[in-house]
Amino acid sequence: MRLCYLVVYLREKDFAMTTIPWTQTTTRAATRGGGGGGGLFWTRFCDEGGQRRRRLFWGENIIIRRHKGGRGKENGSTTTKKTTVRCTAVDQSLNPRVANLNESKTVALTDLARTLRERGEDVIGLAAGEPDFETPEVCAKAGVKAIEDGKTKYSPNQGTVPLREAVCEKLKRENGVEYTPSEIVISNGAKQSVTQAVLTCCGPGDEVIVPAPYWVSYPEMVTLSGAKKVILKTNIESNFLITPGQLGKAITPKSRMLILCSPSNPSGAVYSKETLQKICEIVTKHPRLLVLWDEIYEHIIYAPNEHVSVASFPDMRERTIVVNGFSKSFAMTGWRLGYSAAPEHFSKAFNMLQSQLTSGPSSIAQEAALAGYVELGNKGGTPVETMRKKFQERRDYVIERLRKIDGIEIETPGGAFYAFPDVTKLCGGEKGGFVEGFGPVKGSDEMCRYLLQEARVALVPGSAFGVDECIRISYAASDETLKKALDRITEALDPKKFKRSGSW
Ligand code: PMP
Repeated sequence: MRLCYLVVYLREKDFAMTTIPWTQTTTRAATRGGGGGGGLFWTRFCDEGGQRRRRLFWGENIIIRRHKGGRGKENGSTTTKKTTVRCTAVDQSLNPRVANLNESKTVALTDLARTLRERGEDVIGLAAGEPDFETPEVCAKAGVKAIEDGKTKYSPNQGTVPLREAVCEKLKRENGVEYTPSEIVISNGAKQSVTQAVLTCCGPGDEVIVPAPYWVSYPEMVTLSGAKKVILKTNIESNFLITPGQLGKAITPKSRMLILCSPSNPSGAVYSKETLQKICEIVTKHPRLLVLWDEIYEHIIYAPNEHVSVASFPDMRERTIVVNGFSKSFAMTGWRLGYSAAPEHFSKAFNMLQSQLTSGPSSIAQEAALAGYVELGNKGGTPVETMRKKFQERRDYVIERLRKIDGIEIETPGGAFYAFPDVTKLCGGEKGGFVEGFGPVKGSDEMCRYLLQEARVALVPGSAFGVDECIRISYAASDETLKKALDRITEALDPKKFKRSGSW
């Protein structure tokens, strides 16, 4: 047990101090007294104004002898007081499942960039995973109307019936899979849908297959569930996609879930219909194996890539949990709305878990999302298409600029709004790269720290996504911001300044 000292109240005025100079007698007396008063007595070293002292932690009816002579001078003159030491000792230990989680680096870096900007520093933030577009007007107005109409009470736990019906309609129309409203659970963001799916279906003894690079939260959710994560690492050669062969080898009798995200955050890679077909053929041979299919970026996709839902393959609907949301396609990150679509026995359990975690999602956000699905039509209509086209232009620009930087390798991402360049030639290997005045730049964490310091551009290291060879650049930013950021990155990585890995 880890105890933390908070407050010590001493009844006797003389002893109204929170630290007591350490003596042997103090412990012995205190231990004796502590025994009588019931309760443990703890001491711990702490640094108080440069002095190392022990602090009392807990005890009642303690006899404390203070020795004028100090430590070891037990025969010197003493003052003895019987006192009650009331200590608020707090056990600071955490549930190991929570203690073992990692903070989201994307959130941390976005916050850091924001803080630096607020301090007046000229930092460009390309770390956030959020569209820089406004929520479509139709949705925003529907949200305002919901407030004006007093639709501000608790929503049904599973989400409103009209929205669940609209989700079913959308899944049938756009993804070719039929669901009933009882199979849809609307949540406070797709993150909650993912969490509920993993916590409900996976537990100790199970294995969850997570291809890397992964969205930062997947492995953490697996840790939270008590299941074991099995990371399948991919690289630039395979365009960051797992191969059916790789999957086949990773499956064991313990495999409970495979998590797939397409288009991918962070790589932007898109699974082709052919690859998915082969993956599904393998999955259906294993009755215990479910697929969590995260298609939150489905509308942000660039030809010739096409989005195909895993749930639409033969025998897959029954073993797939589809996760989607409004944050990306409808630029509604702050509205916090997502959903899952899964066979009823799973959905019932997600709904039950949600009823104990958060209750139903925001009534207002649901009205806004409903307008998006009903009024904007197929794939979000014109507002979403306008945004998609703009993202494509930016993708082309960013990739072209990155390819011009010596040492950077990059695949053209087929969707989402991220570029995921491989920087191994710049900072990989034993020694990494080197910059005079900064020192060695080894791996993605140091590369991002260097670019933040030197180029004043905040990016996310690939280590956050399980692939240390890369860094993630979000191109959900204005054209001029992207130009400025790429000018600065290019300058910071100029070979005259940045010595490539192995060249120094
Ligand atoms: N899945 C992926 C792949 C994501 O990138 C995100 C957001 N970054 C989410 C799920 C969660 O989205 P939200 O909770 O905002 O709906």
